Amino acid sequence: MSEEIEGAAEGFARAVERLRAELRAVADAVAPGREPRSEERTDDRYDVSGMMGKRFAMSLLLPEVPYETAAPVAAETLRAAGWRTEPGESFGGHPFVKATRPAGERALFEASVRATGTTLRISGMTPVVWIHARWIRPPRAATPETLRPGHRLCGMCEGWGSCRTCEGLGFLDSRQCPECGLGMDCPDCRGTGQEPAPGPAS
Ligand SMILES: [Zn+2]
Ligand SMILES: [Zn+2]
Repeated sequence: MSEEIEGAAEGFARAVERLRAELRAVADAVAPGREPRSEERTDDRYDVSGMMGKRFAMSLLLPEVPYETAAPVAAETLRAAGWRTEPGESFGGHPFVKATRPAGERALFEASVRATGTTLRISGMTPVVWIHARWIRPPRAATPETLRPGHRLCGMCEGWGSCRTCEGLGFLDSRQCPECGLGMDCPDCRGTGQEPAPGPAS
């Protein structure tokens, strides 16, 4: 299972640290001495060939910081750190600062500074960093030890719970899996990995 792309996990960690530091610098510049509330999230991403990557997103929230005075300071701080900024406009017609920074070929860091009510929100995300070059089948849904009473391992997937054909990726040779049709769970046991054992013959 060592299909990890060389150095990818470290590259992702570096991207996360860099984004954290740079968004923190923006928060410090617009509201010195204030501790912003931080929200962070890491999402898994997959492509149809089964490559697995991660993307990190975060927001720093500063209540009662007016957008009008903060926006120019934030934009300046981002530009000084190598970002490109441009004015954006939300669906509601509210202005925000949009920022991007290249991270290698066709990959971008993205950031924005906007007001949500009276709270200033400084958000950003890393590019997707590809970690695994190949699909890794999710762990077994059921083993002989975890079977529910009166059940046996699913005869189709042998307890894996994922589609036998595509191993749960949902794609086969970059096309929708003919077996599960993007259902990704084993069609027989619906992902549980087990099926009721037949009772005594009647
Ligand atoms: Zn399938
Ligand atoms: Zn099954």
